[in-house]
Amino acid sequence: MKTQRFLLLILFTALLLVFTGCSQSPEAKESPKEKAQTQKVSSASASKKNDLPTIKILATGGTIAGKSKTSTTEYKAGVVGVESLIEAVPEMKDIANVSGEQVVNVGSTNIDNKTLLKLGKRVSKLLSSKDVNGIVVTHGTDTLEETAYFLNLTVKSDKPIVVVGSMRPSTAISADGPSNLYNAVKVAGAHEAKGKGTLVVLNDRIASARYVTKTNTTATDTFKSEEMGYIGTIADDIYFHNEITRKHTKDSEFSISSLDKLPQVDILYGYQNDGSYLFDAAVKAGAKGIVFAGSGNGSLSDAAEKGAVRAVKKGVTVVRSTRTGDGVVTSNGDYVKNDLLASNSLNPQKARILLMLALTKTDDPRKIQDYFNEY
Ligand code: ASP
Repeated sequence: MKTQRFLLLILFTALLLVFTGCSQSPEAKESPKEKAQTQKVSSASASKKNDLPTIKILATGGTIAGKSKTSTTEYKAGVVGVESLIEAVPEMKDIANVSGEQVVNVGSTNIDNKTLLKLGKRVSKLLSSKDVNGIVVTHGTDTLEETAYFLNLTVKSDKPIVVVGSMRPSTAISADGPSNLYNAVKVAGAHEAKGKGTLVVLNDRIASARYVTKTNTTATDTFKSEEMGYIGTIADDIYFHNEITRKHTKDSEFSISSLDKLPQVDILYGYQNDGSYLFDAAVKAGAKGIVFAGSGNGSLSDAAEKGAVRAVKKGVTVVRSTRTGDGVVTSNGDYVKNDLLASNSLNPQKARILLMLALTKTDDPRKIQDYFNEY
């Protein structure tokens, strides 16, 4: 009898243990704090796909963030925020983990040196994190090449940096922004895009910031790299077909980490009957450097040359570029003797970017000419 009661007790205890063990869920065994952490981790891992690259989109405004009724020329640039840009292209989530930051929201004619420095520092900071694989900057097309070249010279990273814009506002029929943005994210997440410096992606083409320029006021195929060529194409897949021969990004000598301003560099344009007073006015207004968009191979009229030489004598660095839109400006003759430097193949607006950065390091004309030959 005693043994029977003892066996029954053991059976009852065993049943109780089994029952309580089964009914207790794993969560019930955790403290509320642990439970919250578990949920957070699992919800994060549900939305984040670990095998996809992590891309940050830094938005600055422009037509890609513009709105109109249906017009492609009358619209307000820089009104749509970065979250709306991302929401408009949900397909991006299949190719990358994307998130956005609004740096500024302006038409690109209002991008100034302060914004360049802010953007450059932010891109550098983000890329220094092991959690970020690439950066996309959305930007107005008017001065896009200047910002792209600035990043090309100042961000010390070999991770992809892609600058993108659009020629039609987000509300236009057949807006080009969504597909350009999708392609930009695709390129920024591509392993093959590493080490190529800052890239510009529009209209299914990949261009180097060093070589590309805007060539047409309104057409969607406005960004061209006539002389040097595009470096790649996007036809669903990415096809790279050219290498960059100029120094950039992690091989660049220019650093902005401790800068809060850039030296004033102005651009003057050469034309028939121009005068030397243009140079005097720039010097008086505080220019430390002047880029001259000369005719042909960076030529100056006699009057302009007098003004340029006067500026050089006052310690201002003068660089000859060209208004032709393409080709190399060579160092030759009296121009060299008078320390009028040559922009090599940089157009005036990009020569200004390089000259600003060069002047943060030196005012030696020979050294600055070397920079123009190397970058
Ligand atoms: N005006 C515009 C801008 O540069 C043009 C564009 O984005 O295409 O912001």
